[in-house]
Amino acid sequence: MSVPNTVQIPYFDLKRQYHLLQNEFEPALINTASSGAYVLTKTVEQFESAFADYCGSDFGIGVGSGTDALIFSLKALGIGKGDEVILPGFTFTATALSIIHAGATPVFAEVEPDTYTLDAASVKKLITSKTKALLPVHLYGQSANMDELGKIARKHRLKIVEDACQAHGAIWKTSRVGSLGDAGCFSFYPTKNLGAMGDGGIVLTDNPKLVEIIKKMRNLGRTDMRHPHTVIAWTSRLDGMQASVLQIKLNYLDDFNRERRRIAARYVNRLQGTPLIMPKEGKDRYHVYHLFVVRVPNKKRDALQQHLAQQGIQTMIHYPIPVYKQPAIKPFIKKAVKLPLTDQLCHEILSLPIFPEMSDEEVDRVCKSIQSFYRT
Ligand SMILES: *Cc1c(COP(=O)(O)O)cnc(C)c1O
Repeated sequence: MSVPNTVQIPYFDLKRQYHLLQNEFEPALINTASSGAYVLTKTVEQFESAFADYCGSDFGIGVGSGTDALIFSLKALGIGKGDEVILPGFTFTATALSIIHAGATPVFAEVEPDTYTLDAASVKKLITSKTKALLPVHLYGQSANMDELGKIARKHRLKIVEDACQAHGAIWKTSRVGSLGDAGCFSFYPTKNLGAMGDGGIVLTDNPKLVEIIKKMRNLGRTDMRHPHTVIAWTSRLDGMQASVLQIKLNYLDDFNRERRRIAARYVNRLQGTPLIMPKEGKDRYHVYHLFVVRVPNKKRDALQQHLAQQGIQTMIHYPIPVYKQPAIKPFIKKAVKLPLTDQLCHEILSLPIFPEMSDEEVDRVCKSIQSFYRT
């Protein structure tokens, strides 16, 4: 019986990226700090435009978090009480929370067996006269099938709000995710592919009306200090310190995503021959591997996770409980939900360490440890 080691291969390590870009971060942070201007500044505006440009959207509105980006988008599109919004059952709880905060009803659909993103066939069966929007999630860094979902939305006159919180830089056909729906929502939580040194988020859209509404929502109901408060709203703004960090990291986002893809390919190659089910890249999608999630068949997931932990390898589970079974969400569900694939995934999935600065040696050690689990 071996004694659990201290962590040798972390699930992610944000310090490595800090050290890599320290020479750029520090002058930018000091510059912002000494400027005395911190909220709704030029730095924020510059980053909003830069990120919108990068994704191929007309406008970006920086907000306090990815969850707020989702809430504001739904509300700005007029979605609220009595409306139904269809989302995947297999996602982070924040996706469902945003619908409930907007006052609407979450309706949970099944995911595709290969990509674990919102399944169009399942969505079709759930549409009613109350359905107002689809909320696809580009889960783990991979786009949902935006053509199929777009067709359904056009046919039934539904809005599309993209949850792109895990997919900065991911591509559907030739377009970046976040630029494909009525609104695209991103989180800049530190561990995301583009992460701040705190919380942050952004809404992307081509619709100037939405921009105006969301700018008021994030800023107490006024567009700026000189204007009156015209609506009941919130305080939820991206700040200048975070924008200055994000502006620097945006220049490296494509490089970081390429590194993530390289690590993913190395995992897939090295883990051939094990019983693990590897992540699959769907047709027409450029996956940016926010997470590298394998499926562990035959009820071996927890044992494998423990084996890796004993060898100093940290792993996570995204997500152990389906959203529609979360205690906070359950009371808001109107019809019985039956999503067998979602349920099965929650028992089988395991997220292996992945971050752009992870070394080949570290990837190989994780793979060797998995192979040793299946030999014993
Ligand atoms: C991170 C995340 C969110 C929420 O973002 P926050 O900035 O933490 O509020 C929403 N949806 C998904 C899929 C996420 O991964």
